[in-house]
Amino acid sequence: MPELPEVEVTRRSFADQIAGARIASLEWGKPLRWPLGCEPSTLVGQSVVGVRRRGKYLLLDLDRGLLLLHLGMSGSVTFSANPGPAGKHDHFSLCTAHGVLRLNDPRRFGAVVFAPGENSPQAQKLLGRLGVEPLGEDFVLDDFARALKQRKGPIKQVLLAGDAVVGVGNIYASEALFLAGIRPTTRATRLSRARAARLHAAIRSVLSRAVEKGGSTLRDFSNAQGESGHFQLEAAVYGRAGLPCRVCASPVRTIRQGQRSTFFCPVCQKS
Ligand SMILES: [Zn+2]
Repeated sequence: MPELPEVEVTRRSFADQIAGARIASLEWGKPLRWPLGCEPSTLVGQSVVGVRRRGKYLLLDLDRGLLLLHLGMSGSVTFSANPGPAGKHDHFSLCTAHGVLRLNDPRRFGAVVFAPGENSPQAQKLLGRLGVEPLGEDFVLDDFARALKQRKGPIKQVLLAGDAVVGVGNIYASEALFLAGIRPTTRATRLSRARAARLHAAIRSVLSRAVEKGGSTLRDFSNAQGESGHFQLEAAVYGRAGLPCRVCASPVRTIRQGQRSTFFCPVCQKS
């Protein structure tokens, strides 16, 4: 599943190219998770002003309103001046004067939704409950530490829930907890201020590093130019069950938490 770094890498790989491009037409394959929410013809002739990201949504700002694009479980986006005909899993194409933005999504949990504005009910239904951005200025230690004190669950589950901070998915939660030396099963309420501070810094560090590395290729991820990322090559614990910890050489362990795999080092992450 594409996580925040992959969505950010995707954004950076086409945002400059599509900016200012006039929309010529929209093409659809099979239905995606949610309907577009407007008459497609009303978008034709508008320009894509720019591309932002909020959580795992790409926000394409138009002259009037915006398109919210989500990659779902298996989606990826390509942007090309000469893309050729749409394939079996290409379910949405935004044809512009600068090229075609295409969503390929075999499982069709992805979506493209129009909203008249970011504060409209249509947009807030999707964005309204997202926590703060981990790479933004609003991710403040005091608030994060306070939020953790109010959560009863294991810290990894609290991170995945996305309300204390958005976009720390399965891969990056394991990695950040390793970097902070925190056992993923530790109750969030029990983390001291000092440990919350280490986790806060680790989340920023792991996510920025992943963006820098072009994201992960664990789920066949590639950016809008078809280039894959390299983050997993240096993952400390994720996907490394039984292999020696890169710090202490103890075998990395894996457990299930909420039906997702968690990876940790029993020595570096004692509690
Ligand atoms: Zn270790």
